[in-house]
Amino acid sequence: SKPTILVTGGAGYIGSHAVLALHDAGWPVVVADNLSNGRREAIPDGVPLVEVDVGDAAAMADLFAVHPIAAIMHFAGSIVVPDSVTDPHYYYRNNTVASHALIGAAMKAGIKHILFSSTAATYGAPETVPLDEDNPTRPINPYGWSKLMTEQMLRDIAATGAFNYGALRYFNVAGADPQGRSGQASKGATHLLKVACEAAVGKRSHVDVFGTDYPTPDGTCIRDYIHVSDLAAAHVLALEALIDSPSESFTLNCGYGRGTSVLEMLDALDAVNGSPVARVMGERRAGDPPQLVASNRRLVERLGWTPRFADTATIVRSALEWERRLAS
Ligand code: UDP
Repeated sequence: SKPTILVTGGAGYIGSHAVLALHDAGWPVVVADNLSNGRREAIPDGVPLVEVDVGDAAAMADLFAVHPIAAIMHFAGSIVVPDSVTDPHYYYRNNTVASHALIGAAMKAGIKHILFSSTAATYGAPETVPLDEDNPTRPINPYGWSKLMTEQMLRDIAATGAFNYGALRYFNVAGADPQGRSGQASKGATHLLKVACEAAVGKRSHVDVFGTDYPTPDGTCIRDYIHVSDLAAAHVLALEALIDSPSESFTLNCGYGRGTSVLEMLDALDAVNGSPVARVMGERRAGDPPQLVASNRRLVERLGWTPRFADTATIVRSALEWERRLAS
């Protein structure tokens, strides 16, 4: 039988989809989440939720004493780039410092595998795309630094033989569980497709387009949007790789290798929605690189990952269906 996996942030957007993927594949799961942003309802029946802050090393030690955890998927953290620019201290505490505490508690408990949610924001504003994992990491916002610093801790500690780790650098995660079991539910959402879907269902009057003078074909920023369920599937494969090769760690980009502009994303939503969402063209937002597109060659080769929901209309449809479900 499969060993038990701790999913931190498992009540949150991406974490809850990973919990579903693990649960569907028969892995026993325990969720650690402080419910600051997560939702209890996102966790399937039979999966224990421990309400805890992962930065509370004593509380995590208690959790490890009760639950026999073999590996950790560490999603818990803050993810809003502009918030990290206005409150960097909070971002370093909630991401870097909390991860440091979690890693320490995990080491004391003898946990041998850690899969970490990292980000394309570690690359900063690259001059050329697509980006492979050897691209220099020069974050341009505190969010990217907070994640890169955690990667560095993992790398240095893994080198001592304490554990092996995988850092998955997510590009722009979007969409919702195709079966409608979870989706993005954060209050005060800021991510493009989420905000646009809220406008489509009448929760907002419009979408602001942040910057129309970028050096891109239509002047808006280009991102590599990846369906959250494809990303969750990559996590299960990455977990298996960590367990199967306990002396090997890895850093892998998670994206489709495809760039979509803000306006193209909004066009895709309008097409699926059947009526246009109002757009307000505005100024650039602090901390946004013009383009981020993944090379996913290593993800595909190393893990044998095959995306299932890459079609932009599929991503948009799942996000809109989820938003309609939340609104109803
Ligand atoms: N964006 C936008 N309007 C919004 C939210 C985002 O124009 O209401 C743009 C943002 O400036 C960036 C892209 O959409 O160019 C993706 O931003 P998001 O916040 O979704 O993700 P990030 O790339 O910051 O992680």
